[in-house]
Amino acid sequence: MEKQMQQSEIYCLGDSIGRISLIDYMGDETKIINAARVSMGKSILKMEDKDIKLLEYLIKHKHETPLEHVSFTFLVKCPLYIARQWLRHRIGSFNEISARYTEIKEEFYIPLEFKQQSDVSKQCSTDLEVETPNLALDSYKKALKQSYEQYQNLLLMGVSREQARGVLPTAMYTEFYWSINLRALLNFLELRLDKHAQREMQEYSKAIVKLIQPLVPNTLRIKDIIS
Ligand SMILES: Cc1cc2nc3c(=O)[nH]c(=O)nc-3n(C[C@H](O)[C@H](O)[C@H](O)COP(=O)(O)OP(=O)(O)OC[C@H]3O[C@@H](n4cnc5c(N)ncnc54)[C@H](O)[C@@H]3O)c2cc1C
Repeated sequence: MEKQMQQSEIYCLGDSIGRISLIDYMGDETKIINAARVSMGKSILKMEDKDIKLLEYLIKHKHETPLEHVSFTFLVKCPLYIARQWLRHRIGSFNEISARYTEIKEEFYIPLEFKQQSDVSKQCSTDLEVETPNLALDSYKKALKQSYEQYQNLLLMGVSREQARGVLPTAMYTEFYWSINLRALLNFLELRLDKHAQREMQEYSKAIVKLIQPLVPNTLRIKDIIS
């Protein structure tokens, strides 16, 4: 079967740095159906109505192991504090760029808007911008600049990369390969598309949905992730 890689890279944070690409995948919905029906020795090449019904049955009754035979590899470029949330998802494989091997580039995430802290939720921001957005932006940028300058100073003094990186802020960009099966990815999407997830994580999750939709459209619909 020829692989469909229609839309393989999506920018996520409005800064032409943060992005996610679908590097590779294995299988589509026919593989789920073939795995589920292996005991009957039958296989399909194309999804038909009865196959969609079987998929609905599997998901509704939580017989989700056949979904594990479909997997994806993404290349993610995101701020370190977003990667920290991402890496909490234990079912999946990660390989991340090393700040011991490479000098960190001056690439930091600067939010397009600074939002107010929510009074209702201890973890979320509101949709309201702070009252002094320019001061907030100045302060944020100043901190990034100072950190990066001190990082460069430490390297010039001969301090090792593995120690000098200690002064860099969590807004710095990192990059990692992430391979994950469809079952675990659906769990990720349910948690990270939710309004309680950090807005940036929601952005990456929406991009993932766009990237995998051509391969698993019925699964996303059955899971109410797309309509
Ligand atoms: C909005 C939001 C806020 C969060 N806030 C915090 C926070 O304040 N502090 C914090 O520490 N974390 C926080 N998290 C992270 C959260 O606790 C999970 O670690 C993260 O979402 C990964 O979810 P998961 O365990 O389902 O995924 P995965 O680790 O990918 O696991 C997938 C599934 O595999 C099974 N599984 C995996 N490992 C085990 C295991 N050891 N034992 C049994 N079953 C297992 C579970 O069924 C699990 O759902 C937050 C997450 C979200 C979405």
